[in-house]
Amino acid sequence: MPGATRTAIGVTGNQGAVDPTRFENLPGVAEAIRVSKPYKLITLDIRPEKTVVRVGDATIGGDELAIIAGPCAIESRAQAFAVAEAVRRSGARFFRGGAYKPRTSPYAFQGLGEEGLKILAEVRDTYGLKIVTEAMDEAGVDLVEKYGDMIQIGARNMQNFTLLKHAGRSRLPVLLKRGLSATLDEWLLAAEYIMSEGNYNVVLCERGVRTFAQHTRNTLDLASIPAVRRISHLPVVVDPSHGTGKNYMVIPLACAGVAVGADGLIVEVHDQPEKALSDGAQALTLEQYEQLIQEVRPIHESGSARNPLVKIRDQPANPNSAGPLNSFPKSLTLVCLSGMVRAIQGVSRSCSQPRCSLSLPLRRKESHES
Ligand code: PEP
Ligand code: MN
Repeated sequence: MPGATRTAIGVTGNQGAVDPTRFENLPGVAEAIRVSKPYKLITLDIRPEKTVVRVGDATIGGDELAIIAGPCAIESRAQAFAVAEAVRRSGARFFRGGAYKPRTSPYAFQGLGEEGLKILAEVRDTYGLKIVTEAMDEAGVDLVEKYGDMIQIGARNMQNFTLLKHAGRSRLPVLLKRGLSATLDEWLLAAEYIMSEGNYNVVLCERGVRTFAQHTRNTLDLASIPAVRRISHLPVVVDPSHGTGKNYMVIPLACAGVAVGADGLIVEVHDQPEKALSDGAQALTLEQYEQLIQEVRPIHESGSARNPLVKIRDQPANPNSAGPLNSFPKSLTLVCLSGMVRAIQGVSRSCSQPRCSLSLPLRRKESHES
């Protein structure tokens, strides 16, 4: 797994513990780390920096808030285009829409199938939006590869291990929804299934879980966002549509999702929600969608501003140090997070590259100095 400064190689499949010294002495190996947790590839242990998933020229997990918007299901060319036009206008890069719908009732609208995928491909060609659409089985993965840009694995299929493995062999990135009653570990292990087949482009999606609540369709578990962050380098987005099931709750919960640090949102939008063939109650109108974008963007921007402008990179301890007092670092490296280091300790420097760094020599403050 390539990283900013080193490449991590995950060794999986061993039945028991393997002696790390067997690897440490190999040429080119800096360090061998034993990962004792059930997941290996999703963890920050193996990749300390966040993964940015690339979908063509769009990204999820980078500095930009990823917006994936569109109807629950593709119902017609006219409907898809009416919504896509508004999505494109908002500046979003991703269009969602199901061609194969996992419905509770076999009598409910099941999606247009391949015809829906063809409409999605037309949307992509017309508006340049990246297409995110669900695959319910292995044949579906192959069809999404043909017409779309990102495979959605739905909540009901989060533990369909055959499907996960098949998606793991796809060239397309995967949006993995959290199962209806999945624990954090189960969700992360589902991502591990995909990655263990070689596809490292996985985005997690919190879409709510089943609880005793009667005021919502699902309970959107926003605590899962910081919980994922603490364990995994994978990006995570929030779905306030399925997470609430209620149109009037979508904007507030979208704002909350962005405020807790989600990398993006996936939201359902319909040009005529009252006529929607699925999930009409949670669909935003085109006007409400525009409103959502106006509300979430400043929250994302102020979130970036709340984060430090610069991050202090760990300094190696002075190798000549004899004790804690002598382990004072000789220099401090500031990593610019926002593209501009303005004035730090009297040093004024600007830079055009985000995440470039600046090293400052440090001098221990003597006790007589005030
Ligand atoms: C959907 O995105 O329309 C959908 C069916 O989502 P979920 O799998 O989260 O229920
Ligand atoms: Mn839906």
